[in-house]
Amino acid sequence: MKIALIAHNKKKDEMIALAIKYKDTLAQHELVATGTTGALIMGETGLKIKRMKSGPLGGDQQIGSMVAEGKLDLIVFLRDPLTSQPHEPDVSALLRLCDVQCIPLATNVKSAEIMLGAVKDGKKF
Ligand code: PGA
Repeated sequence: MKIALIAHNKKKDEMIALAIKYKDTLAQHELVATGTTGALIMGETGLKIKRMKSGPLGGDQQIGSMVAEGKLDLIVFLRDPLTSQPHEPDVSALLRLCDVQCIPLATNVKSAEIMLGAVKDGKKF
């Protein structure tokens, strides 16, 4: 599977903890991430991740274009619902495209754990 990982700044610690917990599972899949999220996860886990641009600089849109082209199977996007983001239109566009393409999307850590748990159990999406 091809899995995208994105975390807003206040959610990056949760994303790193999630990546550490599911490292063995994630290591068996192709991973992409927005720039800062990807750098942090790689630094903490050693996972191999293809990094896009940072989210506010277009990374969310790059991942959105992969969704539009049917190139992603699952997205973990740990959003910060309490802080306004300069790139909110890009965030909304990505969420919308996931619904258009019916791509599984986890926007908080509990839903991410359910989805990554399913991936770990070998479920195909
Ligand atoms: P970042 O982007 O991983 O480069 O911080 C995430 C985002 O804010 O969309």
